[in-house]
Amino acid sequence: MTTSTRGSVTLVGGGPGDAKLLTVAAVEALRSADVVLYDRLAPHDTLPELAPHAHLINVGKTPGHHPIGQTEIERLLVEHAQAGSRVVRLKGGDPYVFGRGAEEVAACRAAGIPVDVIPGVTSAISVPAAAGIPVTARGVTHLFTVVSGHAPLSDDEHRHLAGLGGTIVVLMGVATLPTLTQGLLKHGLAPTLPVAIIERGFTPTQRTTVATLATALHVASAAAVRSPAVLVIGEVVGLADSGDAAASRLLDTAASLSE
Ligand code: SAH
Repeated sequence: MTTSTRGSVTLVGGGPGDAKLLTVAAVEALRSADVVLYDRLAPHDTLPELAPHAHLINVGKTPGHHPIGQTEIERLLVEHAQAGSRVVRLKGGDPYVFGRGAEEVAACRAAGIPVDVIPGVTSAISVPAAAGIPVTARGVTHLFTVVSGHAPLSDDEHRHLAGLGGTIVVLMGVATLPTLTQGLLKHGLAPTLPVAIIERGFTPTQRTTVATLATALHVASAAAVRSPAVLVIGEVVGLADSGDAAASRLLDTAASLSE
C-alpha cells in the first residue's frame, strides 16, 4: 500500500491578529495552501485573499467553548494531509507559545505526515508593545517571564514568580487574576507594583487598563475587562506613553495601504 507523499502540514504562527504582522514565510505558506485550519485569534479576515486556493476551516475556540475539539483538529490535519493536501494550520501568535503546537506536530509525526513550523510574533511581547510597554528595559529589568493563566498557579509557583522579580506577562489570565494577584502579594511583591491589562491588541477596540497589584482586581472588574487580554506586571508598565495611539497609527497605515 502506498500513501501520498505530497500532503504536508505547516503550523504557521499568525501573530497577534493584524495581518501586517504575518511573516513573509507565513504569507508564502498561505498562498500555496490547499486547506487552512485557523484559530479565532489568528488574522482571518483577509484569509480569502491570503490563501486564494484554500478550503478554509474555522476551528476557533473561545474560552470555555470549544466548537471543534483538539483531537478533532488533529484528525482533520492528518486526514487532509493524507488526502494529498498542503495543509496550513494557522494559529494565533507563535505556535509553540501556549498554542498546543507541540501536540499537533506530534500527531502529524505519529501519522507519518511531513510537518514543519513557521514561528510567529507572539502576543506575549507584541501586545504589550502595542500599548507602548517594553517587556524589558535597560536599568529597569533584564528579565521577563511569560505565564499561562489558563489554570491557577500553585502557591509554590506564585512564590517562585514573586521571587524572580522582573516583568511578568500573563496570557489567558483574566479569569485567574484574583488568585494571581493574591498569590504575588502574599509572597512579597509590592502592592504598588504597576499592572497593565491590554485587551484585543492590534484591533480597533484595543484598550489598556492600568492599575497596581493591590487594585488590579477591583479596577479590572469595574472596567469589565474581558479575554483576550495580556497582563503585564512590573515597573516597565510605567514606561508606556502613547501605546494605544501607536497601535492605532499602525492600523491607520494598514487601512490606508489597503485602500
Ligand atoms: N500562541 C499565542 C497565545 C495563545 S493563548 C501567542 O503566541 O500569542 C491565547 C491568549 O493569547 C489569549 O487568551 C490572550 O491572553 C493572548 N492574546 C493573543 N492575541 C491577543 C490579542 N490580539 N490581544 C490580547 N491578547 C491576545
